[in-house]
Order: sequence, then C-alpha cells, then structure tokens
Amino acid sequence: MQNISFIIDGRICTTEKGTNLIEAAKQNGIYIPTLCHFKNSHELGSCRVCTIKLNGRAIAGCTIKIDEGMEIEVNTPELLDTRKAILEMMFVEGNHFCPSCEKSGDCQMQNLAYETGIRYTRFPHLFIERNIDAGAERIIVNQNRCIKCKRCFEEIRTNDGYKVFSFLNKGSKTVVSVDYEQEAKLSEFEAEYAMNICPTGAILVKGKSISKPFGNRLFDQGIEGKKIPFNKTNINKTNSLKKRVATTSLAGCFGCHMSMLDIDLGLLDIIEVVEFNKSPLTDIKKFTQRCDIGIIEGGCSNTHDFEVLRTFRENCDILVSVGECAIWGGLPALRNTIPLEECLKEAYLNSLTSEDNETIIPNHEDIPKILNKVYSNHEIVKIDYHIPGCPPNSNHIWSVIKNILFEEEYEIAYPEFKYD
Ligand code: SF4
Ligand code: SF4
Repeated sequence: MQNISFIIDGRICTTEKGTNLIEAAKQNGIYIPTLCHFKNSHELGSCRVCTIKLNGRAIAGCTIKIDEGMEIEVNTPELLDTRKAILEMMFVEGNHFCPSCEKSGDCQMQNLAYETGIRYTRFPHLFIERNIDAGAERIIVNQNRCIKCKRCFEEIRTNDGYKVFSFLNKGSKTVVSVDYEQEAKLSEFEAEYAMNICPTGAILVKGKSISKPFGNRLFDQGIEGKKIPFNKTNINKTNSLKKRVATTSLAGCFGCHMSMLDIDLGLLDIIEVVEFNKSPLTDIKKFTQRCDIGIIEGGCSNTHDFEVLRTFRENCDILVSVGECAIWGGLPALRNTIPLEECLKEAYLNSLTSEDNETIIPNHEDIPKILNKVYSNHEIVKIDYHIPGCPPNSNHIWSVIKNILFEEEYEIAYPEFKYD
C-alpha cells in the first residue's frame, strides 16, 4: 500500500492510509499516551488520555484513521494540560491507594502519572464507596481502581465466545463486574492475561497478584528504561544567612521524617545553611521565630491537625506538603469510604485488642475531635509545593527544599520520583 503524508505539530509524517493515529504517530517517533488503546482492532476512545486536536477540534486520538493531509496537534501546552487533568480526574474518581496496591510499579496509569509529572490533583478526591468482588473462582475485581477503559470487555472472551466482564449500573454509579459462570471457563493463563492487560490494578488473580520487589517491577526505570539523570548538587555554602525551617507530622506515620533523616551525613551540610525551629527533629514545641519554610507530613484527620496546619500557614512563608498522606490523605484516607461511626466502633469496641463487652468510645473535651474524613492539606490552607512519594526519597526532598530556598537547580533520577 502507498504511503500518504499527514502533519503532527507542524512536522510532516508518513504512513499507510487508514492507520490508527496512535500507531502512525509511533511509526514517526511521536508518543501519544493512552490507557484504553490496546490493539488496532479496538478503537475504544474510552479513556480520552490520548486527546488531540484534529482540524482544531479536540477528539480521542485512538479513534482516528489517518487520511492524506490531516493536520493534528498533539503536544501543545493546552493538550498536555488537558491530558494531565483527565488523569487527575481518574485518580480522584477512583480510590487509588498506590502504597498498598498489588499493581504498584506495574501499573500503566501510575506510570503515566509519573510521566506527566502529576504531584497533586487540582480536584478534590471523591472517595466513593465501591466493592472488591472476590466471588469468582480466580479473578478478583477491585472496583475502586477501574477507570472504565473497556479493555477487558473487548479482549477477554471464553472459548465459546462469551464476554467475561461488563458494566453494572449507569453514570457515576457505573462499576465493572465479572460474570462468575463465564470466568470459571477461563484457563489460568487467560485469567492472568486479563490481569496483565488491565492498565490499573482493578483485575487481580488470586495467589498471583503479590507485588514484585522494588527494582523488578515493569516501570521501576520508567518506560523503556528511560532515566532522568541526577546531578547531586552541593549546598550553596556562600550564602551566609541561615534559612529557618519548621517541620511537623499530622496524620502520617513519621516515615517522611525518617526519610528526611535518611540523608545521613548530608544533614551536616544541611545544618550549615538552615536552622530548624518548631519540629519533632528539635523538639521545639512552639514557633520561636517566623520560618522561611514549613514542611508538612500527613493530612488532617482531627481538629488538632487542623490547628497545627493553620499555625504553620501563619508562621511560615512557604508551605510544602511532603508525601502521599499530606497531598491527598494517603493510607489514613482508607477510612474515607467508611462512615466515621463505623470506624470508631471498629477501633474501640470490636478490634482484637478491645476488652470483651467494651462500650466506651473515648470522648472528652481534651481529646481532639476526629474529622468526618481525612483531608489533604491543600483543602484546608494554601500549600505552595508538593513532594509526592510514600515516603519521598531523602535526596528528592532536600533537592526540592534547596531549590526553593536557594534557587539551586536540580534533576532527579526516575526511581526517586515515586508515589508508592
Ligand atoms: S498502582 Fe495503579 S491501580 Fe494501584 S492504586 Fe496506584 S494508580 Fe491505582
Ligand atoms: S477492569 Fe481494568 S481493563 Fe476492565 S475496564 Fe476497568 S480498568 Fe479497564
């Protein structure tokens, strides 16, 4: 077949007439991200991550067959931001707890979030209560992580041609469901194939879904081994004025503070140029001076967290949310899909360590009130910067802080920029 010409972002490209745009772009060395496009035969257009502009109109790129002279925009600032916003919407619409997810490191959606540089979402998380369906013979469907891409619908069929996956309900209540009878007909290999083609951790196979160790996961080094070079920077020791830093841990596990300390001897360089004020690192309980920067670990789970966060905003020029809990609630936000009363009963009356016939849920004016849900810090006060990770790598944390305080340039290695 004869090649035809078309244009992407002003560049003349060639391919066979009728080739799918995602594939045609790839042939010409241009990457268009997508989560639903899987095979040329399946032009689903369901995830919209591949949104491009054809003749000025926004459209899902995977639904386009190339024709002579087409003019396509792919990587304009507007389209890059649109793609990022679509991904952010996926994160807030589902319940994505990457640090505890079996697919973490092997997840295409998570990797795309790294690639697009998402550090936090501009939309609030919805925390909709959804099921984990473990009733089928081998496959578990975690509805919290499904992005409704329809790959599994199209690709997974029984030998006698029946679909195994479909949608239940409509609108915002739509969830993926598995047909137990058809699922039982799948071989072990076919069940694992379903898990592997799902771009998220929504489909798992019993006994096969344990996370691989760090370093062995699909995206540990980025797509096709892509690496971002890391130039370790030295602190600007010519700066004579020490900067003042405060830190706190709200609803977190102190892992981010542990990571900050993990810089080891690098701390000796740090304390030459900064001094710590209110912080668990110094045990200074109250601000004694205004600080240049406040580093916040953990989100807001109770009224005390709320007050501490406001005090930090009042006393620090710049606030930085460090880690997943600070950025969107993290693992403490697992409770956000469960009514507070139920959580308290589980913790104080029904837990393994509760006394038999326990009836008291602690409640006193001196005890901070538990909020109805765990809030991300930027829902409460203005946060200037976000450093993702659970916990973020220590070099990454200090590189960002030095960049903010001393305008030092920095680069990070791909494995240092992690949500998990
Ligand atoms: S690893 Fe993927 S599926 Fe799992 S929680 Fe993160 S984004 Fe969701
Ligand atoms: S279960 Fe996975 S493959 Fe199926 S629609 Fe949801 S995200 Fe897509």
